[in-house]
Amino acid sequence: MELWYTEQHTGNVRFSIRVDEHLFTGQSEFQRIDVFKAKEFGTFLTLDGLMMVTEKDEFIYHDMIVHVPMATNPSVKNVLVIGAGDGGTVRELTRYATVEKIDMVEIDKMVVEVCRKYLPQTACKLDDPRVRIYYEDGLKFVRSKENTYDLIIVDSTDPFGPGEGLFTREFYGNCYKALKEDGILVNQHESPYYESYAQAMQRAHKRIKEFFPICKVYQAHIPTYPSGHWLFGFASKKYDPLRDLDEQAWNELDLRTKYYNTDIHKGSFALPNYVRALLEGAL
Ligand code: SAM
Repeated sequence: MELWYTEQHTGNVRFSIRVDEHLFTGQSEFQRIDVFKAKEFGTFLTLDGLMMVTEKDEFIYHDMIVHVPMATNPSVKNVLVIGAGDGGTVRELTRYATVEKIDMVEIDKMVVEVCRKYLPQTACKLDDPRVRIYYEDGLKFVRSKENTYDLIIVDSTDPFGPGEGLFTREFYGNCYKALKEDGILVNQHESPYYESYAQAMQRAHKRIKEFFPICKVYQAHIPTYPSGHWLFGFASKKYDPLRDLDEQAWNELDLRTKYYNTDIHKGSFALPNYVRALLEGAL
């Protein structure tokens, strides 16, 4: 008998991974949490049946969500991470000796507990002394913050269920307020390829553009996300991710990354014409 994990990417498209073992299943207050083990992708986590992280391709997502803003402003000291319960984003941030404080706001404690047990590859730095975890809704957490962070990373689920509030105008406005005058906001920005994801991406872009003078989108290839073509949003009060990239400074850190390099950084902002058109159409 064969066991397969199948995710419905659209009403007409499915993506499947052959599974060796179903390691965990549980229902938290917020979502259904599952962990599987597979030959091709290693251990992977799904929330409400949607792929979050796999051991095999998480490096692409975490490199791109962290190193792009960090290479743009290597003086970042105070970081807010929203969501990111698997720990991969925090792991990459802790590699910078210059980062002094990381507040991580994850709504679902059970995700963190499950990842600590089954996904130590990503959860391994959650006990770093610079990290403080708040089990709260990120939407509420940022409301009371002002001029506090150099960088906010929104590593959220999709814009439905608990993640919905993290794609709203109210949330982006509060992020703007919570950032210092040279602050950067990076968020997972959905996919341009299938219609429902593309609409979510357009909506997010339109709302972020209302607050931030610099508002760009960059891309990466993530095999286990719908269509494999994934976007990230880069918004800032001051720094332009291409103009202000200090390649030499980042390369001198000698961080040894598996996906990110400063050429990828520059290239990732070169978008296909249909994606440009979607973003320009996001009025
Ligand atoms: N890399 C993933 C992706 O793009 O699919 C996201 C991974 S991470 C596991 C997403 C986390 O965001 C989840 O653990 C979820 O509980 C958390 N989350 C969703 N809504 C949230 C909210 N409103 N506040 C804080 N965390 C939230």
